[in-house]
Amino acid sequence: MKKEQIHGDPCLTPIQIVLADQDDHMFELNAVALEKILMQEQLKDLNVVVLSVAGAFRKGKSFLLDFMLRYMYSQSWMGGNDEPLTGFSWRGGCERETTGIQAWSEVFVVEKEDGSKVAVLLIDTQGAFDSQSTIKDCATVFALSTMISSIQVYNLSQNIQEDDLQHLQLFTEYGRLAIEEVYEKPFQKLLFLIRDWCYPYEHKYGLAGGNRFLEHRLQVKQNQHEELQNVRKHIHSCFSSIGCFLLPHPGLKVATNPHFDGRLKDIDDEFKKELQNLVPLLLAPENLVEKDINGAKVTCRDLLEYFKAYIKIYQGDELPHPKSMLQATAEANNLTAVAGAKDTYSRSMEQICGGDQPYLAPIDLQRHHEDLKQTSVQKFRSVKKMGGAEFSQRYQEQLESELDEVYSSFVKHNESKNIFYAARTPATLFAVMFF
Ligand code: GDP
Ligand code: MG
Repeated sequence: MKKEQIHGDPCLTPIQIVLADQDDHMFELNAVALEKILMQEQLKDLNVVVLSVAGAFRKGKSFLLDFMLRYMYSQSWMGGNDEPLTGFSWRGGCERETTGIQAWSEVFVVEKEDGSKVAVLLIDTQGAFDSQSTIKDCATVFALSTMISSIQVYNLSQNIQEDDLQHLQLFTEYGRLAIEEVYEKPFQKLLFLIRDWCYPYEHKYGLAGGNRFLEHRLQVKQNQHEELQNVRKHIHSCFSSIGCFLLPHPGLKVATNPHFDGRLKDIDDEFKKELQNLVPLLLAPENLVEKDINGAKVTCRDLLEYFKAYIKIYQGDELPHPKSMLQATAEANNLTAVAGAKDTYSRSMEQICGGDQPYLAPIDLQRHHEDLKQTSVQKFRSVKKMGGAEFSQRYQEQLESELDEVYSSFVKHNESKNIFYAARTPATLFAVMFF
């Protein structure tokens, strides 16, 4: 079976970036593919918006994401009545589903109202709840996708159950630790999306009805399990914004007809009407929420670093402890500060003594190096980082030694220009000819 491709372009496709091994339940990051997506020249330094849709299998996540893709690709985004839906979803699927995370291969560059550009990454997650995967896999995928996204759409069927809230428990604990250390809410936006909502007469479809319903569901009551009481109490301290959207049932053709391929004419009007509100609520330029960790915006380049750090803590047999999540975050955020400071240094040095620049006297080159090294280290120090001063010191030392390494290659390069220069002066020409 072949993956669906949008607009017939073979490059536009979902890419498996995190894969759970079905046998030993270990998670693996496809770092090469992710790097190819995030490190493109025009993207890597842009702040990133990561929208993820998470939740159990077969609840219409990919279907929803396909509409998000339409929105990103086209002004009249709902599409024609007879257009099949393409993108994340599989057609005619009897394929065994893989557990993990997929990213859309194209990262969208969107200009916000203030003129700044952001990169929008869409990710689809495949949770468990089937015979091949364990509950831990599902919790892991949910946790990982929450850690790396700035907008998490928690896709649920019909209602919010107690165990749906249980998945959020890890974050409420992590959130408390993170806040103690950095005084910032660790995550940005969480939207509970309830599919097939059946009680519009109690709470209306859409966001306003959803928010009222959520308020009601999050109320702490005496007879609730203590852990879940805590989730209810603390969830607001983990996310900057929490909302809920109620979607109607899309109609029987969507839900049951095996030949349904996403054409609008087969989808109930009421569903389409609400979908038309929902998608811009998440993806309109004014609603895009940039990924923020520890009070600093995350670029595409940084995101790669966070992915690498987080995957490590999800490789054990147990779900990670909130403390190790904090540790991994601190590590990644020191590493991204090192990378940022080093990049500033290299760029400035490149302007002074890069390929196109003339030979510099070694003493001048060294002076530039010392100035720029100092600026770079200051830049590193000025970035707000987690883990404390002593922890950061290690990374500062790493930065300094990396800068010295870069410097020594600039020195070599500069020397090679000297020989070239010398070889072309009449005096050396003379010397070469006669001796
Ligand atoms: P995923 O596993 O969560 O990604 O689910 P899919 O997007 O692959 O959809 C699974 C099935 O549910 C497909 O047959 C869809 O046509 C159908 N579906 C999509 N949206 C909805 C919905 O809102 N309600 C119901 N009942 N079915 C839906
Ligand atoms: Mg899917």
